[in-house]
Amino acid sequence: MTDAPPPIAELVAPDAWRAVDCISDLHLDAAHPATLRALQSYLETTRADAVVILGDLFEVWVGDDALREPGSFEGRVCAILHDAAARRPTFFMHGNRDFLVSDGFAQATGITLLADPTALALGGLRWLLSHGDALCLEDLPYQQFRRMVRASDWQTQWLAQPLAARRTQARGIRSESESRKRAVVTYADVDRDAALAWLQAAHAQALVHGHTHRPADHLLAPGLVRHVLTDWDVDDDAAPRAEVLRLSAQGAQRLAPEAA
Ligand code: MN
Repeated sequence: MTDAPPPIAELVAPDAWRAVDCISDLHLDAAHPATLRALQSYLETTRADAVVILGDLFEVWVGDDALREPGSFEGRVCAILHDAAARRPTFFMHGNRDFLVSDGFAQATGITLLADPTALALGGLRWLLSHGDALCLEDLPYQQFRRMVRASDWQTQWLAQPLAARRTQARGIRSESESRKRAVVTYADVDRDAALAWLQAAHAQALVHGHTHRPADHLLAPGLVRHVLTDWDVDDDAAPRAEVLRLSAQGAQRLAPEAA
């Protein structure tokens, strides 16, 4: 039995928009400088009319006050994002790593925050945009964790701690999840029935999401598709990866960032 689909927010593209780019799961941190440079260069050159970042832009986000800390990594990234949003409308949806991104980030960058999920109406087509983690229903401990950390009481308590304490805790949680990842072979994927229910509720023909880092195009039912975005890691010499999914009246097209 699948839960009822969540409320579907809507983004109606102005008539002048021809192409909207979706990217996701860049997991930016100071240890991945080439990935940040690839993002910056893509944001400076893409021909898209708008860019939507579908979550996990940051490896971790401990609170919007981090970007006001002198010399912080978050502050440097937000300066790049501010330039990007000045060039073209830019949108951000929360991932499971950066769910604490809030109004301070939006004000500092000029980026518009989107609810998860949001239906994008563009050139006669409807795309349902999501990070994707809420659809990985098989992972019950994660869904429980998600409900906890998305509650405003939990967030208020977390943000009341000093920034340095939050940074230390986030490092601890991440190394724990890294060692768990090495121990587990398979991860939960998006639940097919839930994805179909969301698409029907949104009257959309395609779901676009990231999170699983398993890029593919799945036919869910006749005329209903699930496009999965890749993560970005240009610093990984063995398997560098980065990709843009361009949405237009012609459909979805995968592009290398430098070709976008
Ligand atoms: Mn994720």
